[in-house]
Amino acid sequence: MNLYAEIILNSEALEIDRPFTYKIPVELEEKVQVGQIVKVPFGMGNKTSEGFVLSIKGENEVNISFKVKKISAIITDEPIIDEDDIKLINFLREKYLCKYIDAFRLLIPVGIMKGAKSKSKKVIVFKSDDLSCIKKPEGYIEIINFLKENSGKYTKSELINVNSISQYKLNKLIEKGLLVVEEETVFRYNNRTYNIDYEKELTFEQKHVLDEYNNSGNNLFLLKGVTGSGKTEVYMRMVEEVLEKNQSAIVLVPEISLTPQMIERFKGRFGRDVALFHSKLSDGERFDEWFRIKEGKAKLVVGARSAIFLPVKNLGLIIIDEEHENTYKSDQNPKYQTKEVAEFLSEQKGCRVVLGSATPTIETYYRALTGDLKLLELNSRVDGKAMPPMKVIDMRNELRSGNISLFSRELFRDMQEKLSKGEQIILFLNRRGFSTFVSCRSCGYVFKCEECDISMTYHRSGLLVCHYCGKTKRAPQKCPKCDSKYVKFFGAGTERVEEEVKKYFKDARVLRMDVDTTRGKDSYEKIYNTFKEGKADILIGTQMISKGLDFKNVTLVGILAADMSINIPDYRAAERTFQIITQVAGRAGRGEKQGKVVIQTYTPEHYSLEYAVNYDYEGFYEKEFTVRALMKYPPFGNILLINGISKKEDLLKNFMHKISNVIKPLVEKEVEVDILGPIPCLVAKVKENYRWQIVIKGEFESEFAKKIKELLYDENKNVYNDIRISMDINPNNLF
Ligand code: ADP
Ligand code: ZN
Ligand code: ZN
Repeated sequence: MNLYAEIILNSEALEIDRPFTYKIPVELEEKVQVGQIVKVPFGMGNKTSEGFVLSIKGENEVNISFKVKKISAIITDEPIIDEDDIKLINFLREKYLCKYIDAFRLLIPVGIMKGAKSKSKKVIVFKSDDLSCIKKPEGYIEIINFLKENSGKYTKSELINVNSISQYKLNKLIEKGLLVVEEETVFRYNNRTYNIDYEKELTFEQKHVLDEYNNSGNNLFLLKGVTGSGKTEVYMRMVEEVLEKNQSAIVLVPEISLTPQMIERFKGRFGRDVALFHSKLSDGERFDEWFRIKEGKAKLVVGARSAIFLPVKNLGLIIIDEEHENTYKSDQNPKYQTKEVAEFLSEQKGCRVVLGSATPTIETYYRALTGDLKLLELNSRVDGKAMPPMKVIDMRNELRSGNISLFSRELFRDMQEKLSKGEQIILFLNRRGFSTFVSCRSCGYVFKCEECDISMTYHRSGLLVCHYCGKTKRAPQKCPKCDSKYVKFFGAGTERVEEEVKKYFKDARVLRMDVDTTRGKDSYEKIYNTFKEGKADILIGTQMISKGLDFKNVTLVGILAADMSINIPDYRAAERTFQIITQVAGRAGRGEKQGKVVIQTYTPEHYSLEYAVNYDYEGFYEKEFTVRALMKYPPFGNILLINGISKKEDLLKNFMHKISNVIKPLVEKEVEVDILGPIPCLVAKVKENYRWQIVIKGEFESEFAKKIKELLYDENKNVYNDIRISMDINPNNLF
């Protein structure tokens, strides 16, 4: 019987995003396996292409109404992925509307795609010191003794050039078989040693949580624990159990370079066999870690989101720390949500998934309350201390009393006091680059789109635009609520904060941590260590400093403009504000001294602030839940973003209108679905490329999204060279 293989070609082209059938030549019948990379002829000229074997089929399973071509050669002897992986690829393709090839690339390190091999070196290994076969053995004794002690440590050229051993004599010893040359794999991973992290005696709550975890029949968990409640210790116990059963575990952190303490602790507890996996690794390092894991040499992986696709053996547990962070959603194709992939793997492999956070997303908490996830809770800090008190400062009053600086009077006084005591201060400024809203400094009024409940964005043309639906309004000169003329668009950067700090606090040692100051390699760690060692008094920073930092001497945290996150043009603005404030507050008063948090805002009555300052997650959840229900935002509906990118503005605009018209009949059939746009994106042009978007919002299933994808693919074929489209289900933002 003839055998056939379904092959996915390693190509970006949209029109070949489907399996192609090839005949397996008789001489390769025994060798071709699912998951291998093979060479195949493709197209009119039969150019050689690479492809992945998706499946192998018998004669009667394929439909061959034309002349099939043959696989020409096998590139990788061993399959690179297995049947489970293929199922995962299909899941990614269906769920995130991506191409096969995008999904393959997630699972396979770039190195392999480029044909990389593990790096190896040839070392000299000692075999025997029987010099009787050599004429004048005296001159060799020293050399052979040296290699007896240093067997396998040096390469030939090192011995010759560094240890000044005669090349002639070395060759002679090799020729006589007293020494041999052996190939050894060199792993390029981080070999640094870490301080041992000793197991702690569990608190009552931690024990209780672990008991519940162990006795549960569920595989999905939410560990909700206030900052400092000892979640990491709980994770480590969960991991330990898995490793004892000879299974593997994956621990995901939002961004590996921003969570040095997490890595220190896991490495310190579990030793060198912890693999680290994240985007800052070189292709070579990634390849090595991937290989080490595939071979089963590392059973625990700590990494950023992409680590979920590593070929771990016997997966027993996936932990997703700070599950609410938006870095778990990929911003490149496939635009996967790591938590959903983890759940897929849990079903496929029967492993457990633990999501952890002090401030779970509305979607996750909803699922925990409805029983999809088993809820585990840690309600008190390990040290038994209360959370630091938070104080909201109404910046409208500051304006009224003539204070136009970035600091309220209270924050200013607090800063003076802490500096005089030699304590440290963190100043936090949420910044999202391009977006800027318009508000009244006098009464706090913010221009919002009534349809979408989203802050409108100011454009240089003087227009206010809603970036969900495209509605516009002329930016007024006066506040429609209080008539004040202090209607301005909002914006301040960390640099400006630094300037003001230096102006008012001349003797303070100031550090700034944002994208600009952390570009260089290790620059984050440098700033982090300088502050930790007490060599600076004030740390100014963006979101970066809200994560996982643990400084004992920080007793004051100032959130300079809470408005900047309250008014990001996103339906999650309130949620993000609540999360950020809770998290930043967790940075204050970690040591013996009492901490304080000052929050400055023009809208102190906003519910995200009211609940945050009382550490009332449940209260916030309930309020936000009703808002989401009213607006049909997740978890009550989905958002499908369709993006078009092109160098040709008119072509793109026409195309987006056309597809919108094609999609409309489909949307109109659904009761609770709306189509918004097409409109230019908030960032309407990047480099030479124009960007447009269509948003589909409401209660729809993945079947509906798939139909839309098919329509889009069809339309896009004709203009594929000029316009790139992409789709994103529940995107992080609509920028
Ligand atoms: P979270 O991740 O919930 O914010 P951590 O796991 O970072 O909390 O724990 C906060 C601090 O408490 C850490 O310094 C940690 O080492 C310590 N800790 C955790 N569990 C215990 C325990 N059972 N006994 C003593 N100290 C603990
Ligand atoms: Zn006003
Ligand atoms: Zn709108």
